[in-house]
Amino acid sequence: MSSNSIVDIVKELIGEEAAKIISILLEKEETSDDELIQRTGMKINNLRKILYQLFDNNFISYRREKDKEIGWYKYYWRINPTAINILVNSIRKKVLSKLKDRLEYEMNNIFFACPEHQKNRYTFEEAMELNFQCPYCGKKLDNIKNDEIITILKIKISEIEKKLKT
Ligand SMILES: [Zn+2]
Repeated sequence: MSSNSIVDIVKELIGEEAAKIISILLEKEETSDDELIQRTGMKINNLRKILYQLFDNNFISYRREKDKEIGWYKYYWRINPTAINILVNSIRKKVLSKLKDRLEYEMNNIFFACPEHQKNRYTFEEAMELNFQCPYCGKKLDNIKNDEIITILKIKISEIEKKLKT
C-alpha cells in the first residue's frame, strides 16, 4: 500500500487539511501538537478539531506526556496502521467486484466496431439494431476481439486478490 493512497482516502473522507496532517504523521513514528501547528500553519482550535475527527475515525492515536516545566500535557500523535489497512482493503474489495463484473460482461458478449470509428464498441444486440452499419459513416461493423481487455482485467483482478491476501 503506498502512502499516497492513504492520504487520498483521508482527503476524500475528511478533507484537505486532514490529509496534510496524515502526510506529516506518515514521516515518522510520532509528532507533537507543536510540530503540527508549525508545519501546517493551522490555528490550534482548527488543528484539534481535525485531529479529533481523525481520531474518531480510528486513523490516528495519541500518547500524552506531562511537561514538567509548564505543568500541562503534551500530545504526540501517530498513524493507526490497522484502521487504515482495513479501510484500504474495503476500497480494494469494491474495486475488485467492479472488475469482476466487467470481466463477466466482456466474456459473455461479442463486440462490433467500425474500422474508422473504433472507439465506439457495440454488443451483438446493439449492432443488430444498427443493421451492422456504423451510425457515423455507414461502413459495415466488424466483429472485434476483446482478448486484450480480458487479459488486462484478469491481471488486475489477480493483483488485487494478491494484495488482499497479504
Ligand atoms: Zn464509422
